Amino acid sequence: MDVDVVVIGGGFAGLSAAARSVRDGARVLVVEAKARLGGRATAFADRDTGELVDNGQHILLGCYSDTFAFLREIGAADNVRLQPQLAVTMIDRQGTRSRLVCPALPPPLHLVAGVLEWDALAWRDRVSVLGMATPLKNARRALSTGSTRKAASDGETVENWLIRNGQSARLREMLWDPLALAALNQPPHQAAAPSFARVLAEMFGSDSQAAAIALPTRPLHQMYAEPAREYIERRGGTVLTGAAAKIRIRGEDVIVETTINAETDEKKIAPRSLRSYSAGRVISAVPWFALADLFDAIPTPLADLVARARALASCPIVTVNLWFDRPLLDEPFIGLPGRTMQWVFDKRLTVGDDASHLSLVSSGASAIVGKTNEELVAIAHQELMEAIPESRTAKLRRSTVVREPRATFSLAPGQPARPHTETRLKRFLLAGDWIDTGLPATIESAVRSGHMAAAACIG
Ligand SMILES: Cc1cc2nc3c(=O)[nH]c(=O)nc-3n(C[C@H](O)[C@H](O)[C@H](O)COP(=O)(O)OP(=O)(O)OC[C@H]3O[C@@H](n4cnc5c(N)ncnc54)[C@H](O)[C@@H]3O)c2cc1C
Repeated sequence: MDVDVVVIGGGFAGLSAAARSVRDGARVLVVEAKARLGGRATAFADRDTGELVDNGQHILLGCYSDTFAFLREIGAADNVRLQPQLAVTMIDRQGTRSRLVCPALPPPLHLVAGVLEWDALAWRDRVSVLGMATPLKNARRALSTGSTRKAASDGETVENWLIRNGQSARLREMLWDPLALAALNQPPHQAAAPSFARVLAEMFGSDSQAAAIALPTRPLHQMYAEPAREYIERRGGTVLTGAAAKIRIRGEDVIVETTINAETDEKKIAPRSLRSYSAGRVISAVPWFALADLFDAIPTPLADLVARARALASCPIVTVNLWFDRPLLDEPFIGLPGRTMQWVFDKRLTVGDDASHLSLVSSGASAIVGKTNEELVAIAHQELMEAIPESRTAKLRRSTVVREPRATFSLAPGQPARPHTETRLKRFLLAGDWIDTGLPATIESAVRSGHMAAAACIG
């Protein structure tokens, strides 16, 4: 089989690299180890109800420019619903419900105006948001001019940065901490400030919708992975699932060998050409924790890269799905700041009648990931009853727990430097959310890295 580009990994990074490459005329083969596409953003059928359940709720932001371009390209833009402006309902530890709404003003005025109007906060807490005007401006400037002037220093945590810029404890609890946890998947006292400054620069910089939240309206693999597969195959590419790749280096050539798993769709490829591919370019779009396993023997030029990938720490996310005997929420999602489960999503209101569960999410979940399912369900149920009085009389019919121990990589100060798209081997390129895009481990980082790798194939 003649291919120009082999992409290893069928998550957001691999599929966006492949889609961009076929668009540009390349013959592409995607090799995905699992039977289902999507990687860390996928869904599976619940054993009892048959409902498709995400491996964890994913949100997108209006500033995910490469992601929206990718979704438009593959014809899947309608599979997410974007708010016109950032608007979030929060229920605090005392059970008080409030709503932050950012009006359609130029950024960052819309954030300032929204916070000044937010009745969850005392006046002095609202005013403290003004302390972020200069750091935000610096972060924006660094983004647009590539200036080396930093909005935050590398060794500083998010918490220290916010305190240094005058953010009150209450404003941090209600706004910045939930935002940082959601964006970085790490508690503000652990994550380094520069990645958060970068997220804020993208959210509160270009236009007021950049900070708005978008929710998938379909289970994750249907939202983007299957449309991407169709797009790639329509343009003559091949997407092979259930096939784990190994790489061998022979001189300048990068040989991709596939081990076929039981659930493969190998019939798509002529048997004689099944196992070994040599292509002009090979893009690894596997996560940091899977890079070393691509090689039986680590090639010397890649030794440093693989060592850094191995040393990168991971952070977990825990999701508890609850099925009740009746609908409980009147909006698709609500923030629960200060609690173990920081957000609750009503899947009925996001994906429609095919779903009937609530998803409660705990980001930066190192402290609870080792608890039993019973304990996690009890925490989620208790916190829901505290926040949403209607749930106290509702009957809990079913519950499931999804642990993603390696949901994202750590952004703590002192972690190894993230790699670039190009490696010391000319034909071997990298994609994946952990590539140095400047962004935390997000869908947008994955898609940007995919587009960067596709561009490097042409260059
Ligand atoms: C529970 C959870 C919630 C999240 N919430 C959000 C959110 O709200 N917003 C957001 O922006 N991001 C969120 N993220 C992060 C987001 O999911 C990831 O950043 C993104 O999906 C990473 O995509 P990727 O393509 O880089 O990697 P992956 O999705 O991990 O894809 C890599 C693929 O490579 C495959 N692979 C590995 N080794 C091999 C091999 N040898 N051969 C073939 N294939 C191989 C894997 O099976 C996998 O499918 C969340 C993540 C999790 C887990």
